[in-house]
Amino acid sequence: MEIKKGIAVSPGISIGKCLVIDAEDYRIPRRLIGPSQRMIEVQRARNAFRSAIEELTDLESQQDQVEQRQIKDIFAVHMRFLRDKSLRKHITDLIHAESVTAESAVSTTLREIAAHFTQIKDAYISDRADDIYDIERRLLRQLLGSKREDIGHLTEEVVVVARQLSPTQTAAFNRDFIKGIAADVGGRTGHAAIVARSLGIPAVVGLEDFTEAVNGGDTVIIDGNRGIVIAKPDEATVAEYEAYMHEFLKMEQRLDAIREKPAVTRDGVRITLLGNIEFPHEASAILEKGGEGIGLYRTEFLYLAAEQEPAEQEHYEAYAQTAAVFEHRPVIIRTLDLGADKYTQDRLFVKEPNPFLGLRSIRFCLRNLTVFKTQLRAILRASVLGDVKIMFPLITNVQELMQTKMILHDVMEDLDDESIPYNRDIDVGIMIETPSAALTAATLARDVDFFSIGTNDLTQYTLAVDRGNEMVSTLYSPVDPAVLRLIRTVIQDAHKEQIDLSVCGEVASEPEYVMLLLGLGVRKLSLAPPMIPEIKQIIRSVTIEDCNAVARKVLSMNSERQISTYLRSATREVLPEAF
Ligand code: PEP
Ligand code: MG
Repeated sequence: MEIKKGIAVSPGISIGKCLVIDAEDYRIPRRLIGPSQRMIEVQRARNAFRSAIEELTDLESQQDQVEQRQIKDIFAVHMRFLRDKSLRKHITDLIHAESVTAESAVSTTLREIAAHFTQIKDAYISDRADDIYDIERRLLRQLLGSKREDIGHLTEEVVVVARQLSPTQTAAFNRDFIKGIAADVGGRTGHAAIVARSLGIPAVVGLEDFTEAVNGGDTVIIDGNRGIVIAKPDEATVAEYEAYMHEFLKMEQRLDAIREKPAVTRDGVRITLLGNIEFPHEASAILEKGGEGIGLYRTEFLYLAAEQEPAEQEHYEAYAQTAAVFEHRPVIIRTLDLGADKYTQDRLFVKEPNPFLGLRSIRFCLRNLTVFKTQLRAILRASVLGDVKIMFPLITNVQELMQTKMILHDVMEDLDDESIPYNRDIDVGIMIETPSAALTAATLARDVDFFSIGTNDLTQYTLAVDRGNEMVSTLYSPVDPAVLRLIRTVIQDAHKEQIDLSVCGEVASEPEYVMLLLGLGVRKLSLAPPMIPEIKQIIRSVTIEDCNAVARKVLSMNSERQISTYLRSATREVLPEAF
């Protein structure tokens, strides 16, 4: 039995046979083979090396024009490994000694080397671990080739164990078969984690080297509440977790029963609960869980799921389908937030050195006007179908907002010219996700109908902590005093300018932050649909006076740890089952 503690990113418990996948969804089977099969597997491994070398040589020759030393160096490192006789011998020996498939021998050997590199303190050497994983993928691609099994077509329930999952991979997971997720890499508000929470799949990330502790087919327990994973549990542990799982399900059913009840505090203050979605098909889950509309539709997932750029009609159909679910209730469509950990880097041969500070989000759209205008046309066309609103992400200053609004007006004029109907008075809002936007909120508020505070990015940019990096996850907290001061400023400025305000970052899905947010003056939350009942239950158990007192107390505290501990205990008093 092996127990590991990571970062809990999506609640729930699951127990199942594990499926180890790599970054490209390859399954790595540890199938045992008979003695007569060994030579065949050795030959398969040799062929894979040969083909990988040919592939790399081809790729290298195509790069002749590119003056990128960096790329050439990477190729050279990969080539050296692929030609290394001792590496091949190690793999061949493993096939003979342990009677395993070529895939398993390649994967085990290269992961051992990568793990060794990771432990070395020298950053240059430890970074080489990524090269080793790359080489592993190249070889597995050769070995599995057309036999590559599609994780989208599973026939039995599994828990997925991976080194790192991208938002796209996670979004493609089939909820009926994938019951849990464990990943070596990642943080609480990385987009893969957000998708897992939306899908309601229990998940733990930041497990460092869990992939090395398991083999495909091992039983694994994922405890998404406490951030624990257990490989090869003993019978007593399985029984204990089955009982815990049963209790958790009972609590979920109890909470689902308040679906039809309003989100109103004990002293009668009405709170609006909206849902965050990534795909149109998730819209109905918001209604099922008792939500009242969409507060954040992350439309970039249209790109992440597609082979090629979606056309205007595809955008339109997605928005029309979503608007139809909500009729006259709000549907806030956020324009493309591509870049950073979503889409653009995968397609760049030379990646941006600091993608989270780079050409992401509205900046990407303002540089790719055709892409941006295509989406704006589709949103405007869908605006006649319901209460559709437009929201721009990552606005950092007034000029950027003005430029963005000008483009929106250009698109409106184009539609006028073509006599295409749209809602001329469509509400236009922005996300407040950077310290610069928060500090100039009073000015920005004059030119928009609403703000939505994106605490995931606001926290990362305020504290200079990568939201998806498990190595700095203990420094990442939306209730750090610095972040809270910015949040309070934005709320006050929105109230002063009398514009609508909501919070759509992951804080809105966290039970322990609800009282604080209400106490700071927030009356609208947008969150992961599976969390709506629990958050509603808290709202229905408190008074605004209690919440104001909580906020006052928190604002008088100087340390994040003190704030977190206090909020946890205050919430435990109103909803003990949440902990
Ligand atoms: C945020 O940054 O808080 C947010 C809601 O946007 P995303 O998580 O998609 O970056
Ligand atoms: Mg964001």
